[in-house]
Amino acid sequence: MSDVVQQIAENVARVRERIAAAALAAGRSPEDVRLVAVTKYVGPAEAAALVAADCHVLGENRPQQLWEKAAEPVLAGVHWHLIGHLQRNKVRRTLPLVEMIHSVDSLRLLQSIEQIADELNQKVKVLLEVNCSGDVEKHGLLPDDLRRLFSALPILPHVEIRGLMTMAAREGGVATAARNFATLRQLRDLLAPKCPPEVALKELSMGMSRDFEAAIREGATLVRIGSILFDGVLT
Ligand SMILES: *Cc1c(COP(=O)(O)O)cnc(C)c1O
Repeated sequence: MSDVVQQIAENVARVRERIAAAALAAGRSPEDVRLVAVTKYVGPAEAAALVAADCHVLGENRPQQLWEKAAEPVLAGVHWHLIGHLQRNKVRRTLPLVEMIHSVDSLRLLQSIEQIADELNQKVKVLLEVNCSGDVEKHGLLPDDLRRLFSALPILPHVEIRGLMTMAAREGGVATAARNFATLRQLRDLLAPKCPPEVALKELSMGMSRDFEAAIREGATLVRIGSILFDGVLT
């Protein structure tokens, strides 16, 4: 295991360097880009190696796996981000465990989160997931749906809408991904001035292992990186 710990620490250091270099190249401050280390490929021991390497924001895409990891004593103190689809029947169990949900993709889900957060007497930060690629199998609001949602947004005292999230198209490589990221940023720039005062669309969650540098160029503030943190660890 200690080889694994060492390898993961080196991978984290390398990713942090690449994030900083991409931010500086884009004229941005490296501190304005936060790493969400995605642990869906690994167990608690490898996730704990990330924490030892100073990654305290971890992401899981499946609620069930997030619940399981959040219950691990070696992962106490982690700030969990749910980055994948959330069904309404899983909101109650998820809310107390997470700092942020990146993947809210309907008004119904927003309202369900509000209601349960109220019952639990807590607040939660969320991002709205946007389908910028037009991929039919992808979750996320289409840009027009997002505009419509904001034009009739109910008051949600327990939900802090912090920004937008997208998944780039699977096909088409980094050039296509970069276009999807630019679309998300433009949508944010268009909507931010029209939002109610309690909504601040500061965060853009976009970019994964193969395209995070392009995402940073387009304004990502949260990059969700999994596989390259486990190079040399996963066979
Ligand atoms: C798995 C996953 C990631 C990380 O992907 P990698 O290519 O492994 O870096 C990011 N976002 C979501 C929503 C994911 O499910």
